[in-house]
Amino acid sequence: MKKKFPYKGFGSAAIHGGHQQEPRHAHQTPIYASSTYVFDSAEQGMRRFSGEEEGYIYARWGNPTITEAENKIAELESFGLDFPLKGILHASGMAAISTLFLSSLKQGDKVLTHYSLYGGTDDLLSKVLPSLGITAVITDLRNTEGVDDLLKKDPDIKMLYLETPANPTIQCVDLETLSSIGKKHGLLVACDNTFATPYLQQPFRYAIDFVVHSTTKFLNGHGTAIGGILLGKDIEKMNKEVTKVHRLLGGNSNGFDAFLLTQGMKTLEIRMERHCMNAEQVAMYLEHHEAVEKVNYSGLSAHPDFTIAARQMKHAGAMLSFELKKGLQGGIAFLNKLNMCTRTVSLGTVDTLLSHPASMTHYGVSKEQKIKYGITDGLIRMNVGIENIEDILEDLEQALKN
Ligand SMILES: *Cc1c(COP(=O)(O)O)cnc(C)c1O
Repeated sequence: MKKKFPYKGFGSAAIHGGHQQEPRHAHQTPIYASSTYVFDSAEQGMRRFSGEEEGYIYARWGNPTITEAENKIAELESFGLDFPLKGILHASGMAAISTLFLSSLKQGDKVLTHYSLYGGTDDLLSKVLPSLGITAVITDLRNTEGVDDLLKKDPDIKMLYLETPANPTIQCVDLETLSSIGKKHGLLVACDNTFATPYLQQPFRYAIDFVVHSTTKFLNGHGTAIGGILLGKDIEKMNKEVTKVHRLLGGNSNGFDAFLLTQGMKTLEIRMERHCMNAEQVAMYLEHHEAVEKVNYSGLSAHPDFTIAARQMKHAGAMLSFELKKGLQGGIAFLNKLNMCTRTVSLGTVDTLLSHPASMTHYGVSKEQKIKYGITDGLIRMNVGIENIEDILEDLEQALKN
């Protein structure tokens, strides 16, 4: 969408991007709670259905509140780039990822990806898509030479699917190198940019075709709605095949969630700046704490992906994890002592969230699997919030004491 007036900064784009004057002059785009849209005449209905005239028809396909959120994210992901993007908002990150796979892959196709994927994506690839003949090849994408060899040997691999940074050890993969290898072999390349947000990292700067987000996280920022978006730079493909799958699978967003998302995104820049500044300080504090065995934060020079993260991200992000020396019992005791910080899964909210995978998300997972995912008994995952840093550190300090 064309900008209505010039602005240079990302923060201004986050506030004004995607907004269109509402016909009744409401300052904020209202929550459109209407399942269908009225035609002035049968002929207009015909023009709308044929695509000759733009306009809303049925809210599963979109509404003005949804359009604003889609256009804002598309503008942010293409900020400073010279090509437009098309975004389609979904009911959840998983719905957006499902649309991506089901609109781009067919029976017999394979997806090349890595170990540290979001659990839901990993399960979709291993438990749902194989029944449709779509399978995943999982490898260590940090060994980029191995990727080239693998692609030479397996012509059924049609998509390279990346997620960076990723849980739980904040692993990063090299977007530029991997996408150029993928493109050399004619693959579609997609990236889950949820942890970074377009403020910290723009995958479309490299030869990437699709970006997905769980907007539930930092884009919404306040933990008030589940949502997801699929963005693509092939506008024709987005308008045809991708739109078809989105409309028919029915994983549409709604006016209320889109409204909350749009409001949340207006502060994305200042929130991310503060999230990252706090996360860096927490990482440095934990690194020197006697109760802590190891800190995983890509902003620390000891992290194996420090260089990659510094190259492709503005700051290292708000997510980190750390291992307590006292293992499972130490993790449980620590979590129980927290006062201000919130005990919960998920991420991307203004408050600091901590979880203990061994006793929560990965409780039932076998030891062998946990090792593969990098989950040790004393591992704590942390979404560093935007509270005042002294309060976050004080809460950690008292909870780390025996
Ligand atoms: C949460 C998350 C998802 C799934 O999104 P939902 O909105 O929960 O469906 C996908 N990828 C990443 C990296 C996530 O953190």
